[in-house]
Amino acid sequence: MPRAQPSRSTPVAVWTERELLNGEKVDALVVILRSKGCSWSNRSGCLMCGYNNDCDPSVTPEDLARQFEHAMDKHEGQPYLKIYTSGSFFDPEEVDFESRDSILESAGGKVEHILVESRPEFVSKETLDAALNSVKSLEVAIGLETADDAVRGKCINKGFSFAGYAGAVKVLNDNGIMVRTYLLLKPPFLTERKAIADVQESIEKVSEMTQTISVNPVNVQRGTAVEGLWKRGLYRPPWLWSLVEVLKKTTEARLVSAPSGGGTRRGAHNCRKCDRSILNALRDFNLNADGAVFDDINCDCRDEWLDTLELEPLAGTSGDLARLMRP
Ligand code: SF4
Ligand SMILES: [Zn+2]
Repeated sequence: MPRAQPSRSTPVAVWTERELLNGEKVDALVVILRSKGCSWSNRSGCLMCGYNNDCDPSVTPEDLARQFEHAMDKHEGQPYLKIYTSGSFFDPEEVDFESRDSILESAGGKVEHILVESRPEFVSKETLDAALNSVKSLEVAIGLETADDAVRGKCINKGFSFAGYAGAVKVLNDNGIMVRTYLLLKPPFLTERKAIADVQESIEKVSEMTQTISVNPVNVQRGTAVEGLWKRGLYRPPWLWSLVEVLKKTTEARLVSAPSGGGTRRGAHNCRKCDRSILNALRDFNLNADGAVFDDINCDCRDEWLDTLELEPLAGTSGDLARLMRP
């Protein structure tokens, strides 16, 4: 049966989660608006990104206003608001200026802190001035994915450089705006070992430029190049052990991770038996920043993960070893 078309006037999702605000644990309202879609995705797109599945090019400013109204019906005093658009909130092709300003104006009076996401090229003094007129405290998340330009270009097709990210971070810092940086764990074509090293090196490089680093393990999204590789056994989402390994890193910035699809075949996973305990420990880690939460988690599959780290380079593949070796 064909799937029902999602309504243009209702948001993709709205929920409440726990977050840290000025060192205190608070409730955060998370809103995913259905936008026209990321303009980079429309032109070319990142290899792992299927966010356009949640977008609709025919969304109008009136639809956006209605979606936001629906979302704010769920606002029950949460001081923290995260507004996601499956792209860049500051991209005028995705969210027109008027909608952007009226959303921020309407939200600014109700919450203490707002987080939005943007590619670096849309971060400018003018855009931020308009936002800061309405919002007390603003945070902008940028999907840098990796500090390595070659990996970002060849394995992700991100379409901007580290210099572009650094320029945006400077504008944000100069305007007193907090920066959250997303790093991608295990882009395609990297072995598990190389993927761990890539995130560790990236954390080192950005930890003094950003207040928060969110490590996002790849989850295999519908209709993406990564999904094509995964279906042929040429890609395996990262092990949760790899995520634990990178989160052990000591860093200036706050380190967090909330793996989408964690514990499923398409998301970061181990053997299924230990996935839930690691994901639960992660929730704790995100609020308390104590790596000791992972210390007591043990499972036989850790040896298989260690073998994978050794074997992939010897086998000369970054594919899914277990599937490739199956008779
Ligand atoms: S990851 Fe971000 S920048 Fe890349 S295509 Fe998706 S929404 Fe656009
Ligand atoms: Zn296990």
